[in-house]
Amino acid sequence: MSQDETTLSGKLDSKIKLDVALFFGGNPDAIDSAASLGTWAGYREAEMEEALQELCRDGMLVQSGSVYRLTSDPEMRQMLGRFLGQYEQARQSVEDVIDGLERDRERMAERIEELEISTQAIVKSMGEGIVVVDPELRLRFANRAAADILGDALIHGLSEPITELVEEDALLEALRESKDFTGEGRREIETIGPHGQRYYLIHANAITTEEGDVYGHICVLSDITELRELDNLKSDLISFVSHELRNPLGAVKSYADTLVIHSERLDEEKRREFAEVISQEVDRLARLIDGFLDISRIEAGRGLDLVLREFDAVALARRAVEIQSAAGDECPLSLEAPDEEIPMVADRDKILQVLLNLLSNAVKYSPEGGEVTLSVARSDNEVQFTVIDQGLGIDSNQMAQIFTPFYRVRRSETRSVRGTGLGLYLSRHLVEAHGGRLWVESEPGQGSRFYVALPERSAENGDTSR
Ligand code: ADP
Repeated sequence: MSQDETTLSGKLDSKIKLDVALFFGGNPDAIDSAASLGTWAGYREAEMEEALQELCRDGMLVQSGSVYRLTSDPEMRQMLGRFLGQYEQARQSVEDVIDGLERDRERMAERIEELEISTQAIVKSMGEGIVVVDPELRLRFANRAAADILGDALIHGLSEPITELVEEDALLEALRESKDFTGEGRREIETIGPHGQRYYLIHANAITTEEGDVYGHICVLSDITELRELDNLKSDLISFVSHELRNPLGAVKSYADTLVIHSERLDEEKRREFAEVISQEVDRLARLIDGFLDISRIEAGRGLDLVLREFDAVALARRAVEIQSAAGDECPLSLEAPDEEIPMVADRDKILQVLLNLLSNAVKYSPEGGEVTLSVARSDNEVQFTVIDQGLGIDSNQMAQIFTPFYRVRRSETRSVRGTGLGLYLSRHLVEAHGGRLWVESEPGQGSRFYVALPERSAENGDTSR
């Protein structure tokens, strides 16, 4: 044999020749099939002819005209027999190698599929929106979160230019920035969807090979609504606290100045009246500061300190109405209470704080006016306070949220109404710290009823958990 039979190519080469020889040995007149056999073996006609010629030279075939026939020489036939044995072995080992390679390939394909499935699952379930485009900005991938933010066109628009699928200029700008500078593009967007007003930060980055070739761009959209709201809240809180503290301080200052400067010109009654205003404003200040301290205790996971003592619930309700009336609001305030006292044990100041918060809300959220009533009654072993207004009311889907910190219902009628969204949150904690309950019933447009039910005698270990 002229070819080296120890190398793979040598063995394969011999295999082709042998196949040809065996074929012609069995079918001496089938020369026309040589072309198709050659094609099957991957040989071109010229190479086929050359291989046949070589077999003739080696004495395995004889050629008469254009017909090749297996030689009748017994020695050659014997040699061919031996070769056939070797060929079979060689073929077997080649097939083993090929089988091994095939198994490796299948294992790798399975692994790649597994990786692809888990990557897809991760990307799909991510809260962040992901959009991937090729260097020509044609869509390659978008997850569900991205479609929720930017529109369903992303789900069906594979291979389409992203500019035709997304209207959001900020995303396209961020992408172009990352494309032009092959770096990072950053933009913020604001959307209004089923989850209300939300803010997203878009990060666009080029996807590059180790050599620095760009083969696409990825955009990640992160929801930063809470951060934004916290930021807004921080400014709201600062302005609220400074405004709320400034008002009583301003009043205290001017009444105190009048008392100091014009003391001789004021009669006893006026001096008393001024001193009372100062005292009330200082109380208001103290309540505000106490409220902030209580919130910081709740937020830090600490319980609220209660100073329990016995007092008359009716007198407390009357006091709450007086204080709220003194604020000079438009809404007429009334009290519904039994003639006799309702003694109870609780932290009087904290319950007063709750009632004042509910009364001031009732007034604040009644822009058209309407009567506000505070009723107090005893039932079983409980004392129940109810604050009733005829104001805006609350949608049923917001009833639970209004008790969460910083939540404020956004609507045009109350845009100018000041608040932090902390009042009801704190009030509910204060009531629960007494082992009581605070809840609301409301009809949008008809008004609201806030109920506070407290045990007649609160114990120290009321529930203050969040
Ligand atoms: P704030 O009044 O400072 O916003 P609150 O925690 O006291 O905070 O109230 C939370 C939200 O609940 C308010 O922003 C308002 O939208 C709603 N709310 C509270 N009381 C009433 C009420 N009596 N009528 C209608 N809406 C109310």
